[in-house]
Order: sequence, then C-alpha cells, then structure tokens
Amino acid sequence: MRKVQLFDTTLRDGDQTPGVNFNIQEKVQIARQLERWGIDAIEAGFPVASPGDFEAVREIANSVEKMRVVGLARCQKKDIDRAYEALKGAKLPQIHVFIATSPVHMEYKLKMTPDEVLESIAEHVSYAKEKFELVQFSPEDATRTEPEFLRIAIQTAVDAGARIINIPDTVGYSNPNEYGAIFRKLKKEIVCDEEIIYSSHCHDDLGMATANALAAIENGASRVEGTVNGIGERAGNTALEEIALALYIRKDYYEAQTKIVLNETKKTSDLVSRLSGVAVPRNKAVVGSNAYAHESGIHQDGFLKNPNTYEIITPTLVGVSDSSLPLGKLSGRHAFKARLEKLGYTFPDEQIAKFFKSFKVLADKKREITDQDLIALIHGNQSENPEYTIGQLQLQYVSDGYQGAIATVNHGEVQVTDSAVGGGSIQAIYNTIDRIMKSHYKLTQYRIQAITGGEDAQAEVHVSIQNDDGQLMNGVGIDFDVLQASAKAYLEAVANLKAMEGNE
Ligand SMILES: [Zn+2]
Repeated sequence: MRKVQLFDTTLRDGDQTPGVNFNIQEKVQIARQLERWGIDAIEAGFPVASPGDFEAVREIANSVEKMRVVGLARCQKKDIDRAYEALKGAKLPQIHVFIATSPVHMEYKLKMTPDEVLESIAEHVSYAKEKFELVQFSPEDATRTEPEFLRIAIQTAVDAGARIINIPDTVGYSNPNEYGAIFRKLKKEIVCDEEIIYSSHCHDDLGMATANALAAIENGASRVEGTVNGIGERAGNTALEEIALALYIRKDYYEAQTKIVLNETKKTSDLVSRLSGVAVPRNKAVVGSNAYAHESGIHQDGFLKNPNTYEIITPTLVGVSDSSLPLGKLSGRHAFKARLEKLGYTFPDEQIAKFFKSFKVLADKKREITDQDLIALIHGNQSENPEYTIGQLQLQYVSDGYQGAIATVNHGEVQVTDSAVGGGSIQAIYNTIDRIMKSHYKLTQYRIQAITGGEDAQAEVHVSIQNDDGQLMNGVGIDFDVLQASAKAYLEAVANLKAMEGNE
C-alpha cells in the first residue's frame, strides 16, 4: 500500500469562502479536531496577511503536536520572515511559497516577465530553505501554465531546495486526464537526488476537484490538498473526506492509504459546518444527511436483506451513528465533562463550569440533551462576539399588521435599548438591532434549522450580511427560542462585520 498524505487548508483556502471568517479560538478548535481526524499537515494561515492570521498560525503551531503546521508566503522576503516568526513554536514547521506561472497571471497580475519569475523563485525558495528544513513550492495557476515553462519553474524551485511540489488547479480548469498527465510528466522530467513529494490542489468550478486529485494520485502524487466539506474560494476545494473514503473503499484499485481515522469524519464535518456557517448539502457525498437514506422501495427491500446491496459506506464507518445515551436534567457535572471529552472537547475547569451552567438551563427546557445539543451549546457559548450580547428581547405580534420589537444590546458596561417595527417579527428585531448598532447592511441569507429532531429541538439560525463594498459576514445563533436565536445570529454578524471594517 502506498501512503498518501492529506494536507488540510480549511483555515486558509477555506477561510477565503465568501462570508466565512473564523476567529482564533474557532481555528484552534478546528486544528485540534483535524489532528484527531489524522490530517498530516495543516495550512494554518497566511501570516503576513493580517495580525489576526499571524496570531492564529502561532496559536495553532503551539497547540498541535503530530500534525505538520504550514504557513503560506508569496515570493517575498517579508512573507517568509513572518511565516518563520509565526511557526517558531511548531514541532513540525513547514513553509509554502508560491508565485504564479501562467501567462495571464504573470503579465496582468504580477507584471513580471517569465525570466523575472524564475529569478524570484530561485531567490525566495533558497531564502525560505535557510529558515525551514521543509519547503513547499506552488506555481500558481499551474494548469494554465505553458508545460515547458512549468517544468523549468519547478526545476528551478527544486534546485533551490524545495522538496514538496504542489500543482494548483487554481481556477478549477483542468480535468482528470490532463491533470494526471502533468504529474506523470513532472515525475519523469524533474531531476533531483532527493525524494520529491508531489501534491495536488484542485478547485471544484467544473465539479472535478475530487476526480482530479484522485487522478494525481494515480499518476504519482503522494499528497492531496483540500478542505473539510470542500469549502473554499468560489466553488470550493477538493473535499478531503471524499478522498479519504474513496481511497479506503476502493483500496483494491488505488492501493493507497491515508492516516485518516474514518469514524471521526462526520464529527469533523459537523464542526467545520457549524463554525463556518456553510451548511453541508443533504446530497453531499460521504457526509450529507441523505447519504445513508434509502428511499425507493426496491432499494429499501434490498438494503434490509443485505446492506451491501445498496450501501458501500456504512454510517458507523464515518461516525454517523450515534448510539450514546442522551444526557438529561439529572446528569451531573462528571457525566457532562466525560461526554464532552468523548466528543473531543477538553476545556479548563472554569470553562466547564460555565458550560455546565448553560447545560442546566437547557436541560430545564429540553428533556433529552443529545451530542448535537452539546456541540451547539459549546459553540453558542464561544462564538457570540463577547463584546456585544443580546439582553432583553420583547416582541409585540399582531396578525395583519406591523410587528414591533424592543431590544437591549449589552456592550461591556453599556446597555442600549431601542425599538423598531417591521413587516415581520424577525425584520422588527433586525431593524431594532440596526438602530442600536447604527448599521445598515444588506441581509443576503437567513436560514433556520433544528439541531435535533423533536418538538423541543433547539434552533440554529444562520445569517449572511453584506456591506456596500460587497464584503460578506456570516453569523450563527443557537437558542431554544427561534427569535432569540435569530437576534443572536444577526448581532454576531453585524458586530463582526463592523470590527472587520474597523480593522481595514
Ligand atoms: Zn486554492
């Protein structure tokens, strides 16, 4: 069996999904879960991009042990220096240096000649090599790069010390045959006395991101870059859970294996979906909620006789089945803490105490507290912008008329109360929050879902808002009450978008 490494870029490329903006705490939480899932290397961010990115990379470098931590850098010394600073605490650091090599990128974006690009590669890869033992190089937009120039650019990077070569299909343009051929050619033509790891990085603009990555593996790639749930720029990246499952289910064909702990898959997907605010489509491969539902009569009949007839992936394999007993009102702190640990969460005692209080409040309203409820509770307690919280919320409802809302927003010691009307209750609440926050963003998405089944399910509300410059921000609110959850989600999005504008 060949070994295939998985390189996760959920926190870098995934963080570039429109509307997604992980905070540091969320990034660390995702990084820890990725380590449990069995990811080999994590691209923790782009340290030079912002102080927040720098801090996140540093925190992650200090928080994980088995996973290699990677920082992204352009071919510029200041980028490489920042990555070096951010990764000082990492047990296994790595840098990822990139520059575009396609004609359109070189001419219009970089405004550099091909020779200048080659010089820059030689200079900056060697500079990175002085600071890092392991240097990865990516020729951006590789699939639209002239093949002979691509070979020369990569040979230049290898001569300067790069030992991981990543081939990005930056705009999701390639197809499996063509993409595979690039790897076959490079493996044959690139000269080096040491081993070179070839890596794929695909985008899903034409729906081929997973197929392209598998073609790369068939043609000699031993590393795949991607994200959880396939989130990322535009149509997103290769979904790593799909690669892990494809290699496992079809080991007869690929004869390759990853280190992924398969039954941590669903949990990883749920966490990223919740923290990113990007819902997993019901029909999504491997982790969608319909992936294990059998609807047609013939399928059901066959399935009951032998699951093998219509099911190649069992729910247990990816950790979907949840056999653990729900907690309830009478569950003690010890059981609560033990369950959190089983779900992969470890917190200091004072934080456990805070969560336990919220758990008791919830348990008074809801008979059974499931694992999903617990995950929601932790997220709800962590993600609200702690600077702004919803205080009291009062609504007046009349059928066939304007709805009225009175809301209080707490900001540190300051409390501001105001009121407004709207065509519906949610609109009345959002107009009130806008008055208090002095905001006037456009609501581009409002989505509500029940966290678990049953009448007493908690509500999870996702909103997206947009400012005049087209910047998007997501917010998530979880509450037993739909209106309260809606207010939390909107306030979180507004507060974060205001903070982002303030930082620019
Ligand atoms: Zn990308």
